[in-house]
Amino acid sequence: MKEKLNSLMHEVQNEIEETISLEILENLRIKYLGRKEGIFTQLLKQMGNLPPQERPETGKLINEIKDKVTQLLEEKGTILKSRDVIQEKIDITLPGILPELGNLHPLTKTLKEIVDIFVRLGFQVAEGPEIELSYYNFDALNIPSHHPARDMHDTFYVSKDVILRTHTSPVQIRVMERQKPPLRIIVPGRVYRRDADISHSPMFHQVEGLLVDEQTTFSDLKGVLSTFIHLIFGSETNVRFRPSFFPFTEPSAEVDIACVLCAGKGCGVCKYSGWLEILGAGMVDPEVFKMVNYDSTKYTGFAFGLGVERIAMLKYGINNIRLFFENDMRFLEQF
Ligand SMILES: [Zn+2]
Repeated sequence: MKEKLNSLMHEVQNEIEETISLEILENLRIKYLGRKEGIFTQLLKQMGNLPPQERPETGKLINEIKDKVTQLLEEKGTILKSRDVIQEKIDITLPGILPELGNLHPLTKTLKEIVDIFVRLGFQVAEGPEIELSYYNFDALNIPSHHPARDMHDTFYVSKDVILRTHTSPVQIRVMERQKPPLRIIVPGRVYRRDADISHSPMFHQVEGLLVDEQTTFSDLKGVLSTFIHLIFGSETNVRFRPSFFPFTEPSAEVDIACVLCAGKGCGVCKYSGWLEILGAGMVDPEVFKMVNYDSTKYTGFAFGLGVERIAMLKYGINNIRLFFENDMRFLEQF
């Protein structure tokens, strides 16, 4: 009887070990511990057939093995349950999680596109400080302190003579101070003005251009800017030059393109004029050349400045400048 019980114990151990599901485990429990048909229940019933002196010891042994089996079933049950939980967590039939890929900000893309066009036309990139002396931002560009144009710039002052630059034009002066003509530069960068609404931001981006050489004419300016506009807005885009005034250029012009939304027919965006202003330009004023000791009888040049946000808004049909700086992924993911 003792041997029979020991081999039975081995058998049960093996069966429990090989069990791979809770369902099979439950069947094993019924097979061995079931109250009516369970093998151990049967064994205890058969005790009556044993000689009386063997009964206590055998009974004790059966109960010990029964307890052991109960314990093994419980342990295996815990293992199988936790495995099911893990399997739920790593359900291989679920779609994978794709790593998020970054892309360029629409302003970075537009700026890069603008700069690339001018680089192809032979311009070199120059840069300058964002915290600037008012001398470079104003005086050297023919905007003395009493000049009304200073008021139009809504300047952020750091101190009396130090400001956040209001345009990228001061870099023209810095480059001309250290380099002699011929010059062909493009100046991308951030500029600052106290102004904020749906089409103005206190910080925005400009690209400044300057070309100085002998015999540079207004038709060179028209040629370069028309080429630029046709490359960025499409070769069919109509361009118009309109007389204007800037202290540092003479003559000066505002450059318009036919409205990209209504194709020149007139709509809310172009204020029913059919035209959109996109940049300012002109021939460098001889007064500016005087400030950097260029001989204005020998050299002429042209300069232009454009707003990157303005170009990006027109190119992508964006109606609020703040969208560029709110960093809302739903907006940024569209570019
Ligand atoms: Zn329009």
